[in-house]
Amino acid sequence: MSQVRVRFAPSPTGFFHIGSARTALFNWLYARHTGGVFILRVEDTDQTRNSEEFLNLIYNSLRWLGMNWDEGPGIGGDFGPYRQSERSAIYKEYLERLKAAGRTYEKDGALFFKISGEPQVIEDAIRGRVERTEEKDFVIVRSDGNPVFHFVNVVDDIAMKVTHVIRGEDHLSNTSKHTELFKAFGAPLPIYAHIPLILKQNGPGKMSKRDQGALIEEYQNRGFLPEALVNFLCLLGWSPKDDREKLPIEEVIRLFDLPGINQSNARFDEKKLSHMNMGYLHAMAPDACFAFARDFLAKRKVFGENAPEDAYLREVVLLCQPKIRSFEDLPGFIGYFFSDDYAIDQKAREKVFSKGDPKVRLGELVAALPAADFATDAALEALVQQLAASHGASTGDYIHPARLALSGTPVGPSFYGLLRVLGRDRVTQRLQRFLATA
Ligand code: GLU
Repeated sequence: MSQVRVRFAPSPTGFFHIGSARTALFNWLYARHTGGVFILRVEDTDQTRNSEEFLNLIYNSLRWLGMNWDEGPGIGGDFGPYRQSERSAIYKEYLERLKAAGRTYEKDGALFFKISGEPQVIEDAIRGRVERTEEKDFVIVRSDGNPVFHFVNVVDDIAMKVTHVIRGEDHLSNTSKHTELFKAFGAPLPIYAHIPLILKQNGPGKMSKRDQGALIEEYQNRGFLPEALVNFLCLLGWSPKDDREKLPIEEVIRLFDLPGINQSNARFDEKKLSHMNMGYLHAMAPDACFAFARDFLAKRKVFGENAPEDAYLREVVLLCQPKIRSFEDLPGFIGYFFSDDYAIDQKAREKVFSKGDPKVRLGELVAALPAADFATDAALEALVQQLAASHGASTGDYIHPARLALSGTPVGPSFYGLLRVLGRDRVTQRLQRFLATA
């Protein structure tokens, strides 16, 4: 069989949303699975609704998600230009062919296509056999001279030698118009694969751009990991036919195929996406995690003008990595590492002082600090265990008040990591300050 050629054909008339990203992804996956070509074609003939800003958003989001295109804007290719607004000469030529074949007529200033009226049958790779008969001739060039979507879409699929049309199910009802046109041009039909809809999280109905969690840009701004979002999108309508969910993209590329796409609609589940994101975040290698975090914190302007030292920031980030659910949690989670000015959780304070002798325990800890080894968590753990053993106390009797004193909160990263990263001076000074006001 000849090389697979698929295209993602967005119209830049709005924000880039989950549904579009999933359509792009399934095309991209199919191209990568088959060793085919992934084309990006911009369907920007609707002058009144297009914007360069939305178009740039599409480019950025595709790149961010790692869906590099083989032919298209900025890349070129043998079948360009790849923006419909630059292809009028090609449309004119194809229009002449239809006119010459006697398949057009003018009415009220618009140009109509004469349908055959025969039943249009496709063997959809996902839905199976679909039959539909067009009953009315339809407009292919509006009275203002602009060609309509159905016409340019089919002309480009022919001219760009597209072999598979993978798109949202909302286009299934257009397909009979499109196959009428393919046949009028004497062109072979592509293989169609109409992907089921994405349902909104709650209630019936299709997810729309206005639904919460619909916009790709938002995930990017919120510090989601693109690999996690891509993994999540893969599972919106496709599955590896076992229980695995976290799958490296190479594995998805190996397994992906059109018959593997579900016929039933997929439901958007933001919790599942967050969980997926957390899994990827916790599995990140230290260098990658630190680089991503530093970037994210800078974008959020968390430190203003006073960027902390890289070495310290790195320790903080890596210590907190297993405890945060997303990079969005990070700014709120690490504040006390960079400022001595943090509030003490009053409820936690009451609890700490409700039993035992926390002031005595903290005093013992402070006294042991000058000689303590701060190099490793294990050495600090051994120190606290030894203190506990020699005073007939438990390690918790030191940990709970000390954590509260050092961070203001009863929750946080590993306690011994907290001591190590804050370092001897900060730990000593903070514990003494706490004791002085206790
Ligand atoms: N521009 C159309 C859309 O954004 C493309 C339809 C197709 O893939 O054929 O829905």
